[in-house]
Amino acid sequence: MKQYQDVDSKYTTSTTVKCGGEHKDLNHPKIYLHIDSQLNLEPSITCPYCNTKYILKRS
Ligand SMILES: [Zn+2]
Repeated sequence: MKQYQDVDSKYTTSTTVKCGGEHKDLNHPKIYLHIDSQLNLEPSITCPYCNTKYILKRS
């Protein structure tokens, strides 16, 4: 049984991600999030609607 978590993490290879909350059954307005790849630490952006954290995966 999967435990509910407020924060989900997803890996992406793009610095621009689109989030609509579908994966969490929230269906919030679709927004585009931009990850600042210049960050020294793990570059990531968190969706303000559904708290999903998108982490930039470097190759
Ligand atoms: Zn979202």
